[in-house]
Amino acid sequence: MDAILVVNAGSSSLKLQMFEIAPARALRRVLKGQLDGVGTAPRLRIVAADGTAMVDRSFAPTEVPDLPAALHAAEAWLRELRDITLAAVGHRVVHGGPAYDRPARVTPKILADLEALAPLAPLHQPHNLAPIRTLLARRPNLPQIACFDTAFHRGHGALADHYAIPEALYTEGVRRYGFHGLSYEYIADRLPKVAPEIAGGRVIVAHLGSGASLCALRAGRSIESTMGFTGLDGVPMGTRPGQIDPGVLLHLMTAKRMDAAVIEHFLYRDCGLKGLSGISSDMRALEASGDPRAIFAIDHFAYRVGLCTGMLAAALGGLDAFVFTAGIGENSAGVRARIAERLAWLGVHIDPAANAEGRTRISSADSAVAVFVIPTDEELMIALHTLALLAGAPPASTPNQRDET
Ligand code: ADP
Repeated sequence: MDAILVVNAGSSSLKLQMFEIAPARALRRVLKGQLDGVGTAPRLRIVAADGTAMVDRSFAPTEVPDLPAALHAAEAWLRELRDITLAAVGHRVVHGGPAYDRPARVTPKILADLEALAPLAPLHQPHNLAPIRTLLARRPNLPQIACFDTAFHRGHGALADHYAIPEALYTEGVRRYGFHGLSYEYIADRLPKVAPEIAGGRVIVAHLGSGASLCALRAGRSIESTMGFTGLDGVPMGTRPGQIDPGVLLHLMTAKRMDAAVIEHFLYRDCGLKGLSGISSDMRALEASGDPRAIFAIDHFAYRVGLCTGMLAAALGGLDAFVFTAGIGENSAGVRARIAERLAWLGVHIDPAANAEGRTRISSADSAVAVFVIPTDEELMIALHTLALLAGAPPASTPNQRDET
């Protein structure tokens, strides 16, 4: 069978999914898995689409010291699946910078462009690109498609795209990019099927996972995001603080003598639910704990999601629908209920039974705003883009059509 491999490479793990290109160009998920512990305790685990284990194998750290080696180990295992012919590989790439507003088939020139963006996302971009570089050298004829977390937001108007800082920095790329774009694009794609009556309206999507952000959609297009130059801004996350006064960082530098590397670690690893509760970054663990600090962290999370929803509703000039997605949004009825309470002033009312059951539509009959729970699928979105580019869709980096908000 012809298949598309989707790769999401992080600092110490390589997540994989494979989709069969079925008749009529439908995509069918065949397997998913990951090779984690790269360089420390490498372990490859892959399950079939129905959850059956296909492989669970550990390696010595010297066998899989880095991401290219991880790709090699995963590829070696995939080659054992003899009836699979790889048609293309789709990659998640966090940053497409100002130019890439849609997926791109990677060439050496495009790879060089994307490598030049590494300073904008130093913790992610080099890892995302490492497997692309390896495959480009080893299998130059295998199509590789880069799909960007920023691309879906590139149509933002100038007002949304700017910070109030000197224009020279904007020109250099210091902009409000927004992230989780593949998730939002998937939801925007699903909405007309789930609720055609509101898909053309004003919708806020809350991607609430370990990383979390909100996106404002008008007629299915992103017009505003709570994330900006990096994935640090907006709502609190598992280990990231969300919006924070830059004065706090100046204080840490001057009064606490923390340097850039220490502050970076602090902001990405020690804040958010973990920092606030002192217990865990994991919402499940906090919900299971009766500790007042855990309860406060959850309340704070719901409060900040409520505040940010108000901000995006202002950008949209009102609200027709609100969508919960990602790990917390899809699974935690308790967090959904707390956030909905904060949004009652906007006309959001949920039906407790529908919410507890996790139905697709959870708003009550009298709610002015329709509320949905829609599972996201970023990997399928990457596979769909990859398939589209294989079929000869227009190339990337066509200039944006900008709406001025
Ligand atoms: P990522 O893909 O960014 O790692 P996920 O979208 O998987 O993150 O979300 C992870 C978050 O979802 C964690 O905080 C986890 O506790 C939370 N989560 C997953 N399942 C549940 C659940 N049943 N109840 C509450 N929270 C959950």
